[in-house]
Amino acid sequence: MSGLAGRRVVLATRNAHKIVELKRILAVAGLGDVELVGVGEYPGAPEVAETEHTFEGNAFLKARAVARATGEIAIADDSGLAVDALSGMPGVLSARWSGDLEGPDADRDVVNLRLVLAQVADVPDERRGAAFVCAAVAVFPSGEELVAHGRVTGSLTRAPRGSNGFGYDPIFVPSGYDRTTAQMSAGEKDAISHRGKAFRALADMLVAKFA
Ligand code: IMP
Repeated sequence: MSGLAGRRVVLATRNAHKIVELKRILAVAGLGDVELVGVGEYPGAPEVAETEHTFEGNAFLKARAVARATGEIAIADDSGLAVDALSGMPGVLSARWSGDLEGPDADRDVVNLRLVLAQVADVPDERRGAAFVCAAVAVFPSGEELVAHGRVTGSLTRAPRGSNGFGYDPIFVPSGYDRTTAQMSAGEKDAISHRGKAFRALADMLVAKFA
């Protein structure tokens, strides 16, 4: 049992996919006994625009707003794809790289990854390096804050492969693998992913704090 057993922790996202993923990661990290809920449970909580220029900055914007609005421990992350040949972009603009288009997230994901592939079409294989990057933060009602980072390096394919995951998964092959993260099972991806690493580190900090 963790020192946070039964304690409510609010994840600053309305994305059901992220809540499921985070529950899985926290359970493996020894925090399966916290009551993890999405911010959607609090209709009065504000929508927060991601206006900072770092992943950490955006994660703190979201978590601080949720801790303030709910009075509970808030957890947030911000993540994206950093492409070497694009000087680290799309970066914090990953979700909106092709512009603020209307429509379902899945369609936008496809437009975004096609745009990245087109932008690096002339980049040779040896310079197609990229990384998924994540900052995960916790903000307490007292104002205390924790932050952890995660990163997985790899390279970009020339065409999408696989249908698991989301976002840029179909065009990203982690170093040491020959499959994209869209060709991996959820558990296999969690074990090496930027978000898996960041949230396991954050969970370790929380476990240590409440030991
Ligand atoms: P956010 O952290 O929800 O703001 O996600 C930012 C964007 O980065 C997503 O919409 C995806 O485009 C991209 N991204 C973040 N993590 C992943 C991942 O694990 N796989 C693929 N794309 C990702």
